[in-house]
Amino acid sequence: MTMRQTLLKVMRDTETDLGLKPNSVSLLAVSKGQSIEKITAVYAEGQRLFGENYLQEALEKMQALNDLDIEWHFIGQIQSNKTKQIAENFSWVQSVASLKIAERLNQQRPVHLEPLNICIQVNISNEAAKGGVEPEALFELARAISHLKQLTLRGIMVIPKDERDYYAQLAAFERARDLFIQLQQQGFVVDTLSMGMSGDFKAAMAAGSTMLRLGSAVFGPRDVVSK
Ligand SMILES: *Cc1c(COP(=O)(O)O)cnc(C)c1O
Repeated sequence: MTMRQTLLKVMRDTETDLGLKPNSVSLLAVSKGQSIEKITAVYAEGQRLFGENYLQEALEKMQALNDLDIEWHFIGQIQSNKTKQIAENFSWVQSVASLKIAERLNQQRPVHLEPLNICIQVNISNEAAKGGVEPEALFELARAISHLKQLTLRGIMVIPKDERDYYAQLAAFERARDLFIQLQQQGFVVDTLSMGMSGDFKAAMAAGSTMLRLGSAVFGPRDVVSK
């Protein structure tokens, strides 16, 4: 079995253990730092959702893989001078953390394309160096984004503090899950709780993740490190 097949099996077994429907959690293959050859191999196995953190690296890959039916997700920090190319080239942006960035993406999303799918990144472990809005600021930003015509709010994305302990991981993911449920209770139609990376995805699934973002667990170690 390939790494991806092994991983999908673990995901399906975990869904069964949790009483979830098979394939209810989706897999975003995080291809930052991975070669075109490795991406092509994972695509050939059936993978269609790919995530990238760095715009320039992503644009080069998109050009090389132009003929493949890939849904590209932007998951990196967003500088405002990069929003135009992000809005023109991605299907999803999971790392929106300010109204200013959301407004630029909305304005720059070409009208002939489907609205851009958006997740608001929440700084769930309250870390100074991490991106994302504070939990208290989530609802106001969600309300503002829901009025932007060229954006579709899909949910939230979190990158909790790196913890080894399963229960510490679970606690952070449960805070994110509670925010997600509060959004739904306030009437937002959101279906995506993007959380779980190679080192913590089982805890993320136990807390209700709908999308795992896995890099090294799918591809192996990264070859290239962008800036
Ligand atoms: C790099 C990255 C991942 C994947 O990390 P792995 O540990 O390789 O699974 C997921 N999400 C974000 C936002 C990332 O930057």
